[in-house]
Amino acid sequence: MTYAITSDCIRCDRCLSACPTGAIETNGTNVWIEVDRCNQCEGAYGVPQCWSVCPTNEGCVPLTTGVAALAASSAPTNDYWTAWFAKYTQMVERLKGTQQSGYWRQWFDDYAQRLQQLQA
Ligand code: SF4
Ligand code: SF4
Repeated sequence: MTYAITSDCIRCDRCLSACPTGAIETNGTNVWIEVDRCNQCEGAYGVPQCWSVCPTNEGCVPLTTGVAALAASSAPTNDYWTAWFAKYTQMVERLKGTQQSGYWRQWFDDYAQRLQQLQA
């Protein structure tokens, strides 16, 4: 699995010097990873450097899956940071769901109250 730069990239250029294989390129406007030069930092670091130095949440993600897809996947993984981001995304989605159910509960309460007022 290699990594990819997404549209969340703010072009801070931190990953360019962090990559041990020189796989990250820029033309001054865009940043991208040359897939055939990326070895996932194997032998140099335990964590992909482009991912770990990126100041954005999803400026650099696993190419084949993406963080959202990882969160939905039930496949077990031994990669600490992959598991961490997958768990984080799951928690955020759960929080969004909680907020939404609160919204609808409020909506039904208001609706029921107005019905009672109309019937009174
Ligand atoms: S995973 Fe490692 S080798 Fe691949 S682009 Fe990122 S920093 Fe470079
Ligand atoms: S570190 Fe992240 S934000 Fe900075 S250039 Fe690389 S991918 Fe873009």
